[in-house]
Amino acid sequence: MVCTFACRANRTSSILVLGIYIKIDKKKAKQRLLKRIEKVKSGCWIWKRSKTDVGYGHLTFDGIYYSAHRFSYIIYKGEIPKGLFVLHKCDNRLCVNPKHLFVGNQSDNMKDCYIKNRHARISVLGQEAWNSKLKDKDVVKIKKLYKMGLIQKKIAEMFNVDRSLISRVINNKRWKHIVIIPQ
Ligand SMILES: [Zn+2]
Repeated sequence: MVCTFACRANRTSSILVLGIYIKIDKKKAKQRLLKRIEKVKSGCWIWKRSKTDVGYGHLTFDGIYYSAHRFSYIIYKGEIPKGLFVLHKCDNRLCVNPKHLFVGNQSDNMKDCYIKNRHARISVLGQEAWNSKLKDKDVVKIKKLYKMGLIQKKIAEMFNVDRSLISRVINNKRWKHIVIIPQ
């Protein structure tokens, strides 16, 4: 196999993130990750920086938002197959040790949640609110469009809703449970 510039010395590789190929400097990415963790006796690598409301670590790397455990999976193990979740063997959401991570589908994810008795904590579904004008998938699109640089007014026109609603989505006043994670 011919080594291209993109994979030279296995440092930079193109990985499918948010539907597009992104070049990730793995060495730099690993350094960034390792600076933000504490390795504990259990073998877990505990994320020490920003956390989401539902208890996962997160970070921005080269302008892209990742949840920390997914970021770790990507840089140590590779692409996350489309539609799959990165799950923890160790039941510690803040752990980013790639050895403790595995991929599974929605059903594995739900089983995992039930087994670990967390379901109640994560089942706050904005979409089910009686007055919800936006579906969860719209919220995901809105957040992505805003990250891509579209102004709120334009996004409001696209979804035919008031700009103030778009502002609330972007500022996480509603649909807090939806976090954009690379797929
Ligand atoms: Zn762990």
